[in-house]
Amino acid sequence: MNDSQKLIIAKKILLGFDGLGRAEIVEGQAIFVKNNKINEIGPTSVLRQKYKEIPEIGGENLFAMPGLVNAHHHLGVTPFQLGAQDHPLELWFAERLKMRNVPPTLDTLYSAFEMISSGVTTVQHLQSRAPGNLASVLDQSNKIIAAYKKIGMRASYSFALRDQNRMIYDSDENCLALLPPKHRPALKKYFESFSLSISEQLEIFNILTEQHAKNNLIEIQLAPSNLHWLSDKALETISKVAIDTGAKIHMHLLETPYQAEYARRRTGQSALKYIDKFGLLGPQLTIGHGVWMTEDDVDLLAERGGCLCHNCSSNLRLKSGKADLSSFLSKNIPIALGIDEAGINDDRDMLQEMRLAYTLHRRPGHSSLNPSAAEILRMATEHGAASTPFSGKIGRLEKGLFADILLLDLHSLAFPYQDFDIPLLDIIVRRAKRKSVDMVIIDGNVVFNKGKFTRVDEDTLLEEISKVLSRAKTPEEVELRELSEIIMPAVKNFYSGWY
Ligand SMILES: [Zn+2]
Repeated sequence: MNDSQKLIIAKKILLGFDGLGRAEIVEGQAIFVKNNKINEIGPTSVLRQKYKEIPEIGGENLFAMPGLVNAHHHLGVTPFQLGAQDHPLELWFAERLKMRNVPPTLDTLYSAFEMISSGVTTVQHLQSRAPGNLASVLDQSNKIIAAYKKIGMRASYSFALRDQNRMIYDSDENCLALLPPKHRPALKKYFESFSLSISEQLEIFNILTEQHAKNNLIEIQLAPSNLHWLSDKALETISKVAIDTGAKIHMHLLETPYQAEYARRRTGQSALKYIDKFGLLGPQLTIGHGVWMTEDDVDLLAERGGCLCHNCSSNLRLKSGKADLSSFLSKNIPIALGIDEAGINDDRDMLQEMRLAYTLHRRPGHSSLNPSAAEILRMATEHGAASTPFSGKIGRLEKGLFADILLLDLHSLAFPYQDFDIPLLDIIVRRAKRKSVDMVIIDGNVVFNKGKFTRVDEDTLLEEISKVLSRAKTPEEVELRELSEIIMPAVKNFYSGWY
């Protein structure tokens, strides 16, 4: 008997979606997993006979589907938990200075618990704002990556690239000039803590790519952070690296109306059209947010074959807007779903994020179009996968793909009653909660089973986080909290008249 082989039993299996977006669901079939891949899917009776010696997991009450992909994620313990209240994005950058520091290993595991327990098997981790020199940023990156490996989660990691405008949509010098002279040194010190040049930041991409090349769970991709954060020179350099390496790119763009206005002032055109000039737009690119893309922008993204990552709860919490999903859907643009920093319940519940996207885009009018349950599930699986370097290797259940499988308990989902004349996918998107997550398999390994993580003790880790954060604020944390209060009025004032 080989522990790395298993036969997964389920009542029904969602294999994925066909070219027209229709769900492919089979019944009475089982999944044979060998090592980290799906080796065969076929009639349960046939596979039971064929793989007699292989242990069976799962059960007749379960619904098997591809693991979910959270395609846009930054942090573990949420900014709100750490002292930063929700504000419109531009003000939130200043508010976030109040956030306390959490050691990267604990921080990463914290949100990994939340994601995996809601069915997420792959995360697109975008690390922003790591201060320090190259060695210390690399050390932090590797601690985050090691935490994902430890819990057994698949992660596409990127270090967000930026070389300017660290606090407002204007230069750091102009930002300093907004403050009374006595407060400038504190902000200057903060700016100076981010000292890496674009070439050093790209060196991090190169080093990590090499270090993790042999690990199935980890991929490294490029994340030019946003137009305002990057000079033309940086956009040019990043585009060259993307072309040379064929790396996937995830870029925040047009998240708020202020970003649309920034693009107009800097370039005289839309941010998307502008980055297209640098050769960044293409099938390798996913736009994070894209709330303020115009119809012309949507056409251009479709023409270039790019993806959108819809960050529904974040768009609402930071007052960014809604994004018109129907315009992207009508152009067949692949849409991934990302929880971003924190969902509606200030946690990383992917099932709830799917439900939010499913519900928010139901526009008035008897014949108005809205995303179907199948479209939402495709966003959270196949299209999320397509926005990462794991594209084509995950996101569906079929022979040869990595065995990333979510098993939902249909009994718990339906208890005390659910009429199954309603299509199953509608029931899953509308009603599946964490308690219905029976098992999560990643890379062929059971990492979560009936409420328990198999590789890391959740209770111990949570105690440790509680202990670390119960200590008094450090002098540095206090200093940055004060700085946040000092700069907030100036930041607010800077944007007056922009929208
Ligand atoms: Zn983001």
